[in-house]
Amino acid sequence: MSEAVLMEKIVSLCKRRGFVYPASEIYGGIGNTYDYGPLGVELLRRVKDAWWSAMVREREDVVGLDSAIIQNPKTWVTSGHVGGFSDPMVDCKKCKARFRADKLEDARCPEKPSKKPGQCEGELTEPRAFNLMFETNVGAVKDSSSIAYLRPETAQGIFLNFKNVLESSRLRPPFGIAQIGKSFRNEITPGNFVFRTREFEQAEMEFFVPPGTEHEWFDYWVKERHRWYLDLGIRPERLRIRAHDKDELAHYSNFTSDIEYEYPFGWGELEGVASRTDFDLKRHSEASGVDLVFFDPQTKEHFTPFVIEPAGGVNRIALTLLIDAYDEQKLEDDVRVVLHLHPRVAPITAGILPLVKKEGMPERAKEIGKALRKAGLTTFYDEKAAIGRRYRRMDEVGTPYCITVDGQTLEDNTVTVRLRDSMAQERVAVAGLVAHLEACTAAWTRDAATA
Ligand code: ATP
Repeated sequence: MSEAVLMEKIVSLCKRRGFVYPASEIYGGIGNTYDYGPLGVELLRRVKDAWWSAMVREREDVVGLDSAIIQNPKTWVTSGHVGGFSDPMVDCKKCKARFRADKLEDARCPEKPSKKPGQCEGELTEPRAFNLMFETNVGAVKDSSSIAYLRPETAQGIFLNFKNVLESSRLRPPFGIAQIGKSFRNEITPGNFVFRTREFEQAEMEFFVPPGTEHEWFDYWVKERHRWYLDLGIRPERLRIRAHDKDELAHYSNFTSDIEYEYPFGWGELEGVASRTDFDLKRHSEASGVDLVFFDPQTKEHFTPFVIEPAGGVNRIALTLLIDAYDEQKLEDDVRVVLHLHPRVAPITAGILPLVKKEGMPERAKEIGKALRKAGLTTFYDEKAAIGRRYRRMDEVGTPYCITVDGQTLEDNTVTVRLRDSMAQERVAVAGLVAHLEACTAAWTRDAATA
């Protein structure tokens, strides 16, 4: 299957089955913006849960935060975003379309899609800096004094709260503050579906360390984050770690590595791990006059911590999971579309299927579904069509388990559990069903799924 075809299939599956819809579709849409449907929103929640568990709940040295999207605009002057958060842009003098000067290779002329910008009849302007921040106005008056910005990253909210968290928790460096939340960037280049959108959720953690230890913590976090993706079942051969060249580094960073994935459209950043030095805390200290330093009561020294930042995008992670999980298997009489999602992130954990729509099977199936939901599992009840077709519908959205209620269930209180990846079926007592599914999820590996 060609790469463009694979992407098309994923986009169409996302729309058809309720993962992702183009935003404002009935009005013709709005560029690079999407809404998440019933299954998409469950997928995003599970990605965030997995991230929050690994980064906050399972650790003693990281705490969470939820900071405001609109902060005092001085925040963004100090961070360097007002002056420098821009992409070099060129315009086509003929059709007026705008492109990122550093991404012309990937762009297409909107009038002649077989050509790249500048290779059609249109001439391109010289590159100009285009700021990616969305402006808004705060308060009743709309003038230059009321300008504020929608945050382009969640990190700054963390730096602004460094002192608050330090004082209200008993943490001392090395420690981290993590945040998941929406960020906004007026991206110009077309986005490869939800890979690049104008609003997106970031999952960022700022890890504050004593100066001099930043190299070891940087190595630690690159490894941890890489392992997290492997644990979610992403194929190792499609992941790589790429260190930034000196000329690629952001103004605040002395070294950065990206965890990249091989997308159908080429290698791209999935997550960045940046050593942000003491840049942000020092700049905010200077600009606000509030000392953002740590006082070590043992050595009686003050120091500004250095910062290591793992920063990923929730939507990009979800897209990566979908792409990586997508599989078409040739069976004897048809082709099976299946998403080999890790059971922890699958939007529906169990399909609840009465074998036939009579003899008390629907009622018993619904009771079993209710018990599973009470135990915290998500279920989907389906009694329409032949059982084989219903299995396929669950395979296509990555549901790892199908519970079939049949005549025997009514006699001995057992059900058939059908596994998505191997299509194997086994008989399980209803009394032990939740424990059985949890054990299957704990034992799941990507290798076994596609063996
Ligand atoms: P890119 O080089 O792709 O523009 P970036 O280096 O600007 O990304 P960061 O500022 O490091 O990205 O943001 C951290 C993460 O947020 C990225 O690794 C990515 O997963 C996600 N992200 C960034 N921009 C977008 C976007 N426009 N749409 C969706 N996710 C994004």
